[in-house]
Amino acid sequence: MENVKVTVIGGGAAGALCAVLLARSGIAVTLLEKNEKTGKKLFITGKGRCNLTADLPPREFLEGVVRGEKFLRSAVWTFTPEDTKKFFEDEGVALVTERGNRVFPASGKSSDVTRALDRALKESGVRVELCTEVKKAEKKGEKFLVTSSDGREFSSDILVVATGGKSYPSTGSTGDGYYLARSFGHSVVKPVPSLVQLLTHEDVSSLNGISLKNVTLSAEVKGGKTLSEFGELLFTKRGISGPVALTLSAHLNRVGGATLRLDLKPALTHEKLDARVLRDFAERKNADLKNVTRALLPERLNLYVLRRAGLSPEAKVNAVTREERERLVRTVKGLTFGFASVGPFEEAVVTSGGVELKELTPKCESRSVKGLYFAGEVIDCDAYTGGYNLQIAFSTAAACAADIAAKAQNAREG
Ligand SMILES: Cc1cc2nc3c(=O)[nH]c(=O)nc-3n(C[C@H](O)[C@H](O)[C@H](O)COP(=O)(O)OP(=O)(O)OC[C@H]3O[C@@H](n4cnc5c(N)ncnc54)[C@H](O)[C@@H]3O)c2cc1C
Repeated sequence: MENVKVTVIGGGAAGALCAVLLARSGIAVTLLEKNEKTGKKLFITGKGRCNLTADLPPREFLEGVVRGEKFLRSAVWTFTPEDTKKFFEDEGVALVTERGNRVFPASGKSSDVTRALDRALKESGVRVELCTEVKKAEKKGEKFLVTSSDGREFSSDILVVATGGKSYPSTGSTGDGYYLARSFGHSVVKPVPSLVQLLTHEDVSSLNGISLKNVTLSAEVKGGKTLSEFGELLFTKRGISGPVALTLSAHLNRVGGATLRLDLKPALTHEKLDARVLRDFAERKNADLKNVTRALLPERLNLYVLRRAGLSPEAKVNAVTREERERLVRTVKGLTFGFASVGPFEEAVVTSGGVELKELTPKCESRSVKGLYFAGEVIDCDAYTGGYNLQIAFSTAAACAADIAAKAQNAREG
């Protein structure tokens, strides 16, 4: 393979970067993207602002990885968050680092990132074939043959599958990489939604839209393990979302059952909260209970909590027994919900699961099919929010590109 030819399937974060890096090392690259443009998901990341990496040294970065930490070590050291920043800065995208080491374009526009990648694809000479949906990929002798839905065929020495996961399928990530991987004999770890709301058995629709800060959400998983997250939370029509819920979803998405426990006043011990309630009660003995507890909780949540504690919102404070007050405090410190499941793929920020890691080298090449690579979310790796998932896409893409470029160089030399 003297003049190595590469086909990359998928023009998302991973596929686009991989194609650019390959082309810059003198390799002929064809990028196949089924949408009418590249980077459709990239465009909606970070609420349209694109949190493109987490500004951390590799070791600390890897602590944000939920699945595949060990596998990703090599790729993340090959192309670090610093390299991601440098790549985009060199492409003219000014960046800012915000709270939680989150890196964004200074303009606040994800289009800066997608445009930079598009420009780099063009300038490096990648042949980009849009509206090209890959239906089949096979290896015939030494060559890979890829067939699109309109019957066109693309032949290459190397094939990179960067088709993403299954979440937000409207962006083009419909899980096609999984059947392509299986067609080459690879195993696929069951894909499940991650970074998504937690659906509850209880009807929480009356709380829809209430957002809370500084609360602790814990999950007691069947079998005794407890996971806990402190921070912001948002009630939805069907469950709990917001940062703490999204983080827990990364661990609950493969769990059959769990009890969620919401501590609405984690800064106060049970005793301190009880003392505060007692003081409030003493000050307004003749008031309705709901009007006194309103000082503790937002309006709709106040009524919900009183109901869950088995208390009448209209009861007079002086009629509340010690046992009832105790129940109220216990409920505020531990409002429980039955965890039904994580939300659907349509709402999930990322897919957990994908191409089995054991079947890939640390450079993301198939151990069984030489010249076949996988990059990005299609692999069984995922992480928390905060720029980690895009960095995984960039690092695995760059790992593939470096390995392929090294092989091409060897081939050229002889
Ligand atoms: C709403 C939302 C916000 C997010 N925000 C952030 C964030 O701020 N920071 C962060 O780090 N991560 C974020 N993520 C996650 C991040 O976007 C993904 O992890 C990342 O885009 C994965 O990159 P990828 O290249 O592997 O896959 P994708 O970006 O999904 O790209 C895959 C591409 O392959 C194409 N494709 C699929 N099948 C075929 C086929 N058969 N033929 C041809 N082309 C095909 C698709 O059309 C798509 O363009 C967010 C995700 C969502 C949904």
